Amino acid sequence: MTISQFLSIFILFISTSLYAQGRFDKVEITTTKLSDHTYMLQGAGGNIGVSVGEDGVFVIDDQFAPLSEKILSAIKALSDKPLRFLVNTHYHGDHTGGNENMAKAGATIIAHHNVKKRLESKQHNGSIKPKEALPVITFNDQLSITINDESVAIFHVSNAHTDGDVILYFTESNVLHTGDTYFNGRYPYIDLNSGEV
Ligand SMILES: [Zn+2]
Repeated sequence: MTISQFLSIFILFISTSLYAQGRFDKVEITTTKLSDHTYMLQGAGGNIGVSVGEDGVFVIDDQFAPLSEKILSAIKALSDKPLRFLVNTHYHGDHTGGNENMAKAGATIIAHHNVKKRLESKQHNGSIKPKEALPVITFNDQLSITINDESVAIFHVSNAHTDGDVILYFTESNVLHTGDTYFNGRYPYIDLNSGEV
């Protein structure tokens, strides 16, 4: 590689990073209260679910890594309890991009087994995700988490948006987090490259 080739790759890299950063600079995280102790956060990417209470903070999905700081401060505004669990509804980058940062902030990541399989394999750009970005607990059909005085039923939806989608139901709050198995006002998207054929 010549110096000029190196420089142009370097400059391209810098401008792509600046672009990626710039894309999220203006994003604001908004918080909507759904029940006594559950909230929806919106920024860029899939909606985030949050449950806060005596037991700690439970989060569903985490959008993109450059937004983690803003997301964590929006959560801090709701509770100063520790971040306990994070569930990924599926592997897409706008739902798992913040995984590494959330794990470093204390979350144990939970997801369907196929989400882990896809996150730990080589990514489209050839990179390998650090182990902090991967789910620690995986399951196949269903799982239940009891936190903040209610049980959260988590169940796999087969033949949906990807091969690892889960829906979460907060049994006391009567809140359903559908991930991308449901798009409000839009036709569903079936990601044929993610195992749904
Ligand atoms: Zn998706």
